[in-house]
Amino acid sequence: MMGKRVFAPKLYYQLSLDQLVPQNHLLRQIATAVDFSFVYPLAKSHYSHTGQPSIDPVVIFKSMLIGYLYGITSERRLMSEIQVNLAYRWFLGYDFDEAIPDHSVLTKVRSRFGVAVFEKFFERSIHICAEAGLLGEGPVYVDATHVGAAASLESLVQREETVSPPLSVKDYIQKVYKDNPEPQEEDGATSLKSLPVDDKTAPEYGPEVHSHPETRKRSRGKTNQEYVSRTDPEATIIHRIRDGLRLAYKAHMAVAGKRGLVVTAAIATTGIAGEEHLLNDVLKSHTQHTGILVKEVVADTKYGTLANYVSLDQAGVTAFIPPHERTNGVNGFWGKDHFRYVPEQDIYFCPAGMPMKRAGTWPGKKRVIYRCEPGTCQTCQLRKECTPYGNLRTVTRFFDQSLIEEVKARIENPVGKELIRQRKTRIEGIFALGKELHGLRRTRLMGIWKVQIQLWLTATVINLKRAVKALTARLEGVAPTQTDNPPSAIAITTAPLYFSFTTAN
Ligand code: SF4
Repeated sequence: MMGKRVFAPKLYYQLSLDQLVPQNHLLRQIATAVDFSFVYPLAKSHYSHTGQPSIDPVVIFKSMLIGYLYGITSERRLMSEIQVNLAYRWFLGYDFDEAIPDHSVLTKVRSRFGVAVFEKFFERSIHICAEAGLLGEGPVYVDATHVGAAASLESLVQREETVSPPLSVKDYIQKVYKDNPEPQEEDGATSLKSLPVDDKTAPEYGPEVHSHPETRKRSRGKTNQEYVSRTDPEATIIHRIRDGLRLAYKAHMAVAGKRGLVVTAAIATTGIAGEEHLLNDVLKSHTQHTGILVKEVVADTKYGTLANYVSLDQAGVTAFIPPHERTNGVNGFWGKDHFRYVPEQDIYFCPAGMPMKRAGTWPGKKRVIYRCEPGTCQTCQLRKECTPYGNLRTVTRFFDQSLIEEVKARIENPVGKELIRQRKTRIEGIFALGKELHGLRRTRLMGIWKVQIQLWLTATVINLKRAVKALTARLEGVAPTQTDNPPSAIAITTAPLYFSFTTAN
């Protein structure tokens, strides 16, 4: 017989919030594993010693954790969910009949605390992972991913139309040149093109946009040089073959640990910041957070620049990073892979078997130039495939090319191959998890410092989930009892509650 449910609300209930939350609930496990009282000293200096008591900062951080754990990216919706979700209420220490803080509290606290407090919060999650036995010496995996900005392409306006951010000195000079063009030179090049672009003198965000000619080329129509988002001026235009144009930031992360599962560094930048320039910062951040020196680093080809190899070598770090170099030739002509270097003699042998000796150096590019004897190439039968203009063929080699050769040999051995293979599943797995479940796909907040906070919170929940899993596995076989109540900073009422149900018709 088909049943039919008829809701008949009682006037009085005898129940306990604690009993309603399952023993194996993730929030209960986190509350057991983490003593959130560390938040008080972090937050203390940001409150006055007089006045009305604030919302408990532990409640604020726990609320944010709930949002990132369950992918609730809207803070309004988060507080609405907390209002009706018993487990969330239990985690925060709010009883059935207690009012939940307003969503605006989260915004205020974010501005009040700034990035330093949230970084410490993230750092604490790493220490919890270490206490759970997840962290130790081993390779550090580094990578970066784009995070969509909370701004539409519709918000793009010409830079001239906006006053925020103001033009930098370099941009202003470029604008002056653009507004007052000089006569064309004979070869058609204008003096504007010869303006040097110096990354080192560029301020942190805005002008970085202008220092990436590749990005300008790829942006197809709308460039960061000309357009800025009115909604989020710090978001930058990127172009991806699959997604087309979009506004984005970039998340640079390091992952380490015995199983390579703990996020140890997370840095937010504009969407066009080259990850190869951030490698040292990410590794420094890893060491600062974990207290463990990096001995081996694994990353993809984008990080394989000579500058990175040199700095890693000087720091005593073993690199497992495929070099970012072009071995194939230009326009179908033979590339460097057709030439064999003999280190004992410091010469190359060309495809025709002719020796190519040192012919000089190229200090600006930090390279040595190698050539055959004059006249050799002109009479060579292979020159149609070898030298584009029928001239003497040249091959160059970095002063520190031996470092690149070492890395190439290292990543070809079984250990190197295994680490390169692991990189994909480890750090890219973290990105996938963050994007799928923990709000990394798109920023909710505008401005790079808020995106940085979001990144740390995403990393924190990933770490806490790992730590809780490890700690739970360690306790496997020990059944939780009613006395195993969480040592939460907020007192949880475990006694049965009696209250009047006032919503009955
Ligand atoms: S063109 Fe010159 S460098 Fe090339 S294969 Fe011939 S001799 Fe060697």
